[in-house]
Amino acid sequence: MNIKILGNGGFYNEGLPYNAMAIDGHVLVETPPDILQSLMQQGMSPAQMDTVFISHIHGDHCFGFPFFFFNWLYWGEADSHYNRGTRLVVIGPQGLAGHLRELMRLAIPTEHPYLRDFDQRVQIVEIDEDDVIAVKGNLWFGFRRMAHSLPTFSLIVGERGQEEALPSSSEYLKKALFIYSSDTSMFEGVRVLLDSGAKLILCDTNGEKEKGVHMSPQELMATAVAQSLSGANGGRLRDFESGRIRGIHMSKKMERAGDLRFVQPGEEFSIR
Ligand SMILES: [Zn+2]
Repeated sequence: MNIKILGNGGFYNEGLPYNAMAIDGHVLVETPPDILQSLMQQGMSPAQMDTVFISHIHGDHCFGFPFFFFNWLYWGEADSHYNRGTRLVVIGPQGLAGHLRELMRLAIPTEHPYLRDFDQRVQIVEIDEDDVIAVKGNLWFGFRRMAHSLPTFSLIVGERGQEEALPSSSEYLKKALFIYSSDTSMFEGVRVLLDSGAKLILCDTNGEKEKGVHMSPQELMATAVAQSLSGANGGRLRDFESGRIRGIHMSKKMERAGDLRFVQPGEEFSIR
């Protein structure tokens, strides 16, 4: 599995591209306001995506959707998704369909055919905690609810063989390869993610103080180290040295805070 970082900034940030990433070149995670610029900066086109995941409906995660979808639809002219009749799958929390439609309506006059295109060409899948769903390219997604001001889900990703069944809701965390924590304060659910089998875990580290709206790098490190010492996650004492746990959704440009490294736009990870 390939993870490519498109942006690493949070809602409040000093000019970083907003938090987004691509999985295997065809799944887009988050559609922040600057998503088109971030894709092009990394030599990617919106049209190469067949699936989009939106963790929650704060603007830094979804306000780019109308622009992403417009360019996804018409990219490539004669060979565009519009001409080919393709549908885009968009996955996210309950209420996402209504919220995205409202964003579309605000972005363009209602008589524009683009709204009809949204209704006909976007298949929205609203998920809940511990759902496990199949995604194109032999991937599966699972979801955990995070501690944030509105329904917010972390994304748990794994791969399966051609004939292999989806993992059950009791085993998917163990079988995960990649996790993106999305916005959260520090709570028990973060420990559950750290305790999974995932080889790469990107965590919201936008916070600067203890018990804030977002986890701070220090809170994340303290939790991971405590878990390693207790053996709860198999004694992974070297989680930070190995880069298994990394920070994202930052407020300023940083390479690292203590042992914790932050991901950077353009950085790629190969996980197996
Ligand atoms: Zn948020």
